[in-house]
Amino acid sequence: MEVLFRFDKPRLHQDKMMEDIYNAISQRKSIFINAPTGIGKTDASISACLSYALKEELDVFFLTPKTSQHKVAIEVLSGIRKKFNVNVNYIDVVGKRNLCVNPRVNMIEGEPFYKACEDAVKGKRCSFYTKAKESGEPGQSLAEAGMSGHNALFAESFDHGLCAYEIAAKLAKRSNFIVADYAHILNPYTRQTFMKKIAHSLESSIIIWDEAHNIIETASSYLSSSLSLQAVEYASRELMSIGSSIDLGYMAFMLEELAKGKIKDGHEGEAFVDKKDLPPALSDNLEEICDQIEKAGMEYISRSGAKRSSLMHIARFIRALNAENDSTIRIISRRGKAVKLSVSCLYPSESIDSIKSAYANVFMSGTLLPLGMHKELLGFPEAHAINYKSPFPKENRICLLDSDVSTKYENRSAEQYNSIASKISKIKERVHGNLAVFFPSFDVLESVYRYMPYEVGFIQRREMRSFAVEKMIRDFKQGEDSMLFAVMGGSLSEGIDYANNVIKGIIIVGIPLEKPNLELNAKIEYLNKRFGMKGNEYAYTIPGIVKAVQASGRAIRSESDRAFIVFMDKRYSWSMYKSIIANFMHIEEGPNYISKISLFMSGSEKMRSEVNK
Ligand code: SF4
Repeated sequence: MEVLFRFDKPRLHQDKMMEDIYNAISQRKSIFINAPTGIGKTDASISACLSYALKEELDVFFLTPKTSQHKVAIEVLSGIRKKFNVNVNYIDVVGKRNLCVNPRVNMIEGEPFYKACEDAVKGKRCSFYTKAKESGEPGQSLAEAGMSGHNALFAESFDHGLCAYEIAAKLAKRSNFIVADYAHILNPYTRQTFMKKIAHSLESSIIIWDEAHNIIETASSYLSSSLSLQAVEYASRELMSIGSSIDLGYMAFMLEELAKGKIKDGHEGEAFVDKKDLPPALSDNLEEICDQIEKAGMEYISRSGAKRSSLMHIARFIRALNAENDSTIRIISRRGKAVKLSVSCLYPSESIDSIKSAYANVFMSGTLLPLGMHKELLGFPEAHAINYKSPFPKENRICLLDSDVSTKYENRSAEQYNSIASKISKIKERVHGNLAVFFPSFDVLESVYRYMPYEVGFIQRREMRSFAVEKMIRDFKQGEDSMLFAVMGGSLSEGIDYANNVIKGIIIVGIPLEKPNLELNAKIEYLNKRFGMKGNEYAYTIPGIVKAVQASGRAIRSESDRAFIVFMDKRYSWSMYKSIIANFMHIEEGPNYISKISLFMSGSEKMRSEVNK
């Protein structure tokens, strides 16, 4: 096995990982990998897959759930190309909107953007498109830009007056390595068009799925949508502003009637909606209705200069509402005066089936445990599955349990919140350095905060805009003795790198289990039927624990980082949860855990040797 690896020497476990991936794909098998932070998954997977693909004349896709994660893959490919001078042509492909250089169109957001682009192309009003189509093969400068990342390609294409998306597609056609988003392959509405445009097939491609624990949820999101009375009201105002004769009164009437018929008058609640409960006119003239609404939406955008339109959202919702699928449910809900109809996909079968047609898949993540569950959910019973150990020194982390409190719903009380707040402040007194406290929900965060004896410097708020979150992270990282309160499963607890040991300790308060509701119950029932009574585990307990593990992993990002983690909830000692978390870490139980924190913080040799035992 000859592997193209950009560094002189692999890290601990990294060489084994490359070998395992290479062996699996050379048997045309897929592989599931759980690899903690620090092994160098991106390098290992790209090196192994690219080496095999070049030998067998296959293509490779490296897919990520977020565009921001492309950069590291591009760096790996650039390093390999420089070191080995091999015949690898790669390209960074992102969503069309991020590569649109037309200033009249690229300011439009969401669905309307795609429609505006389509209209501009059909009406021959996009000179960037016309020039890109007529320009023949992209030259050296564009190819080099494509290999430097999508921002460079955007700038270079703009300078040449060319649509960067069309150029990316042309470059992708002749590339044997494509870095792209999950959506390019998982979105059933766009997958085929994309693959045809770049002239590649899944059958002759190896796909690397980064952060693979997100696949099912991401694929389901493309088939889910919701519509509120408020959105219908906004859309009606848009229609009025352009003097349209379309009347959306029947949509509002439908929502109100469904709520009236299914939820007790004056009460809050939710209920399933059958397809037969929907007005037949909505499905009989589906395309006609959606086309008319979309046209009105585009007219509203062009006349008002707005970036988005509720009308476009309504058209998308009507299509989702009419989806024929045994895994789609419809739910009407009323909270206060707000009425909402939701369409939710319980299991994205079609997207999952398409993945199976690939030559081989590499599914990798730092939280892909239990591997058996992911193999089963994605339908790869024959795939290889390997769990790698952390390459970081064991003594750099202690995980402790406080089983005196719980945020379990029936245990929630002022007394519990007070007790949690007092424990957090006692821990903080022992720590000189930043402390991050993660909560299962905003409700619990706010309730505990009320009892804190002092101000907390950094608090994640509901509906916080992304720029405010980014600023808060920057400020928190600069602090030396601050405290952060945030929720699990959010942008401050997942996919974020608190580098340079900026966090000295993490407290996980409670378990971030999803709030039981009709959708969750339906999902559990669906998975019970499909996977033999494992619905509760697969849809409820494991995802909750994984969110806690994700949050707990924020502190230690390199070999030299040291941090303690306290799990504050007695349920972590219950066998049901303990057995799941044991896949990821060992939590020490026992009294006086706060004194262990002091010992750990002082770096005591005694403590280190105890942890090492
Ligand atoms: S063709 Fe390209 S440049 Fe023109 S509107 Fe569409 S994405 Fe933008």
